[in-house]
Amino acid sequence: MGLWRRELWRLLLLAGIGLLVGWLLSHAWAGLALGLAACLAFHLRQLYRLHRWLTLTPQAEPPATTGVWGELFDRLYRYQKGQRHTQERLLGIIKRIQESSEAMRDSVVMLDRHGDMEWWNSAAERMLGLNAAHDRGHHITNLLRDPRFIDYFHARDYREPLTLPSPIDEQMVLQFQITLYGDDERLLMARDITRLHRLEEMRRDFVANVSHELRTPLTVLAGYLETYATYADQLPPRFARGLPSMQEQTSRMQNLVSDLLLLSRLEIDRGGEDHTPLGMDALLGSVQRDATATAAGRHTVEVELVEPKSLLGSEQEIHSALSNLAFNAVRYTPEGSRIVLRWRPHGDGACLEVEDNGEGIDPVHLPRLTERFYRVDKGRSAATGGTGLGLAIVKHVLLRHDARLEIDSRPGQGARFRCLFPAERLAAEAAEKSSASL
Ligand code: ADP
Repeated sequence: MGLWRRELWRLLLLAGIGLLVGWLLSHAWAGLALGLAACLAFHLRQLYRLHRWLTLTPQAEPPATTGVWGELFDRLYRYQKGQRHTQERLLGIIKRIQESSEAMRDSVVMLDRHGDMEWWNSAAERMLGLNAAHDRGHHITNLLRDPRFIDYFHARDYREPLTLPSPIDEQMVLQFQITLYGDDERLLMARDITRLHRLEEMRRDFVANVSHELRTPLTVLAGYLETYATYADQLPPRFARGLPSMQEQTSRMQNLVSDLLLLSRLEIDRGGEDHTPLGMDALLGSVQRDATATAAGRHTVEVELVEPKSLLGSEQEIHSALSNLAFNAVRYTPEGSRIVLRWRPHGDGACLEVEDNGEGIDPVHLPRLTERFYRVDKGRSAATGGTGLGLAIVKHVLLRHDARLEIDSRPGQGARFRCLFPAERLAAEAAEKSSASL
């Protein structure tokens, strides 16, 4: 307020001096006009200095002056200085983030809300072949054209990463992961997992080869044991006693080897291309017959066919998955239990279900049940002849059919294993094809 009062005084003083000088020279009004003109000239000059300062040397110290103008210059200068500091601090942060992203061995690509590339680190240039000169502002799918990546990008479900070969080097295996942030922007990360992928391949090949190599010696052993068993009565009792146990263990080993081989085949051959319409009636009927034979009158096995549409998939694989679930139900439920094999609608898709009213499974085991060799009760499972690979096989078969396994169970209330298939895996109409080949 003081400043404004001083400014007013300045105006009055100049006007007063003008008036006084004018009055002394007998031109009072002309003197007043001159006094006011001097005041206006002073303000115009300050305005000119402000304009010059802001346009030519905004970083330099402001021109020295007094009064309201001095205060204005001062405040503007301090405000500008504050802004410059904030800007420098933000630029420093951005630089540090970019430097740390640069130092990362993984590719980082920032995408705007349309999916256009805004910024990336040098690892992205090395792994994805991005070029700073040409690619900035281009849509990511113009550079990563693999249909699997395009589907992944547009599906907007980024909970699971996507594994693909690099677009510039087929030998390099990359794992892509997208994160949504801010205003629908995306951060794409790609990690080189070539080494891990090779190790995994080696492990799979090793298991497949060992299982394959074990098949012939086991067949020979089983063959000789069978011959010896035929002539068991001619053998000294001391040797004959061990024969049934040897036969039982050999057959367990054979089952184990054949399950391991099946699992390796399901893993190695990523496949899942088979879209044959399956005769569900015949398929469920065939598994029902086998399970009833295995149960040997101790359980009842029923079939319920509610969904009219057929499943599109591999007959052999679906048969194997369903058999595993049905045989488990026979193995792990007490005598007199009821087992139902069901094919019914579920949401947009359908569900292949095996339900029993046996003893059920404690929920603590459910998350790990599909792991290889995971058993709830080790002693009992071995005694029932299980290999510990049944549910792992089911899980892999379902993965190849875009389906998933859901297990519902509470101790004492039976178990329900549901294979949930999406609508795309259903044929328009029921197939007439029989599964007599199985
Ligand atoms: P296994 O060859 O031992 O049967 P699986 O992978 O098929 O191996 O099954 C894993 C475990 O899940 C089994 O050891 C068994 O304890 C449990 N299980 C599977 N199905 C059932 C069922 N219907 N009722 C109770 N327990 C079950």
